[in-house]
Amino acid sequence: MSIADVVSRPSPIAGLGLFAARDFTAGERISPYTGTTTSQAPTGAPAHGKIYHLEVTPGRWLDGSSEDNPARHANHACHPNAELIWDEQKSTAWLTASQPIAAGAEITFDYGFSLADSLFHPCACRAPDCIGRIIAAPLRPALRRHLRFSRPRD
Ligand SMILES: [Zn+2]
Repeated sequence: MSIADVVSRPSPIAGLGLFAARDFTAGERISPYTGTTTSQAPTGAPAHGKIYHLEVTPGRWLDGSSEDNPARHANHACHPNAELIWDEQKSTAWLTASQPIAAGAEITFDYGFSLADSLFHPCACRAPDCIGRIIAAPLRPALRRHLRFSRPRD
């Protein structure tokens, strides 16, 4: 991995996105996702509405907001092409391709948000079945039920 492997530029999903500067094969490491880790869950709304606090392994959060984090602009998507994999030995999170990624494609991963977090974070990934919230894939059926029951009756 080198800096030239990825590039940050405006994204159709949100703000700046992270884009592949070359092809990646499935399973290949794309970029480290660097920052400080804490065992404290983040509280309150993220600064400037941006999201960099991620639970990288159960009970451990990583603050990727530093400008030194080469992958900080990677957006969430309902059908991501990468995942964040925590390397316990090196205490480093890696954005890793979960499928082949072509040069020029936007690199996305599942932020893994809880149901409560998701209510404050809209998703605009443009997938036909986008659930409209940033939420961990296993929790989406629960969110669908929640949205159905909270919809005003006509
Ligand atoms: Zn979406």
